[in-house]
Amino acid sequence: MRISIIGSGYVGLVTGIGFVKLGNEVIFVDVDDRKIQMINNAQPPIYEEGLEELMREYKGRYYATRDYKEAILNSEVTFIAVGTPSREDGSMDLTYVKKASEEIGGALKEKGTYHIVVVKSTVLPGTTEEVVKPILEEYSGKKAFEDFGLAMNPEFLREGVALKDFLNPDRIVIGVQDGRTKKVLEELYAPINAPKLFTDIKTAEMIKYASNAFLATKISFANEIGNICKKLGIDSWRVFEGVGLDHRISPHFFKTGIGWGGSCFPKDTKALIRKAEELGEDPIIIKAAVEVNERQPLKLIELLKKHVPELKGKIIGVLGLAFKPDTDDVRETRAYVVVKNLLEEEARVVAYDPQAMENFKRFYPDVGERIEYANSAEDVLKRADVILIVTEWREFEKLDYSGKIVIDGRRIKAAEKTARVYEGVCW
Ligand code: NAD
Repeated sequence: MRISIIGSGYVGLVTGIGFVKLGNEVIFVDVDDRKIQMINNAQPPIYEEGLEELMREYKGRYYATRDYKEAILNSEVTFIAVGTPSREDGSMDLTYVKKASEEIGGALKEKGTYHIVVVKSTVLPGTTEEVVKPILEEYSGKKAFEDFGLAMNPEFLREGVALKDFLNPDRIVIGVQDGRTKKVLEELYAPINAPKLFTDIKTAEMIKYASNAFLATKISFANEIGNICKKLGIDSWRVFEGVGLDHRISPHFFKTGIGWGGSCFPKDTKALIRKAEELGEDPIIIKAAVEVNERQPLKLIELLKKHVPELKGKIIGVLGLAFKPDTDDVRETRAYVVVKNLLEEEARVVAYDPQAMENFKRFYPDVGERIEYANSAEDVLKRADVILIVTEWREFEKLDYSGKIVIDGRRIKAAEKTARVYEGVCW
């Protein structure tokens, strides 16, 4: 099949390259010329394991452009995978989705054959039918579900293992209304062996929010119990090993630490809270999950001050800046909160991350430009006697922490074994 993907970020690019691997041809559309150029040179503009190899292997079966018309006229299915960030008040910002819909609508006007538009961006229930559909109809002069197809297909991939998740997902959810669109999407996803759930469009949109809100709550719940465990001298990892053995609960995604970040949980929980409140509901569980998560990185600072009460002028090493390992993504990273607090106490921060230092500097200039970046994790250990572990990169397991005071937000076993003083945040 010939597919176009609007937005070539973490989701768009991985999905597109995944579809190429499954035998399709893909045209990426983006507004960022740097990304377009990099994709056309078979270089991934983001760090994601295995992506570069696949892009090199399948060069010629995909390309990127700014030109919506060219992409729509030369494909049968278009996925919208642009960002849906939070506004200041936590509500969902649909600027990019609306802009993409206008452009797609304009191109559909000139299209003689049936075309299918699929919303893959995470959007609140009702958005595809109440926002995207009217824009597509207005700009194309055509009717959805009759002249062109429209569906909603949320994405569940995890950054760091995104390609693997795209090709081997736990499930594929497709919100669809017309039979013709359903048939094409069934065919497109046929090579992927996973349960496929067809629902109406609004339900598909809600499945994504409910999943993210649940996962965020699961971690916040674990951290709340973990904080109690810490005070009682109990290892919360052992506790959740035991809890997770109950098959109704599941052992996955149950690790305590300094909380969740990234481009999804924070914005999706906030957007769902706002939506619920608009509807006259008070989503107290999700609000509490957010609150626990906001407090959690401060636990690291609290424990640090137990061992180093006066931070002014002290060199503090920070290992990890990405919101999780195996990605260069720093959106809503807990590292920001940690570093900001250290700087407020006038500590000197020496930080290292294998992939995310550039992004950290660029995304958070207020703190990112005030810290020193080390050349390696070993370099951090050379320069600082007090170390905070913020992201669980595998390479941090290979270090020798002898003689150091380590406050660990993620549980690096090597630090636990070798540090002179070791404090885990929830263990
Ligand atoms: P991203 O910011 O990495 O990528 C978005 C891309 O869209 C950027 O390259 C941007 O330049 C481009 N863009 C913006 N406006 C455009 C326009 N008008 N036309 C063409 N391109 C445009 O975002 P992402 O992390 O890939 O997320 C995309 C969507 O997928 C969001 O709704 C997000 O919630 C959802 N999602 C993300 C993940 C994840 O792990 N990142 C997982 C599941 C779902």
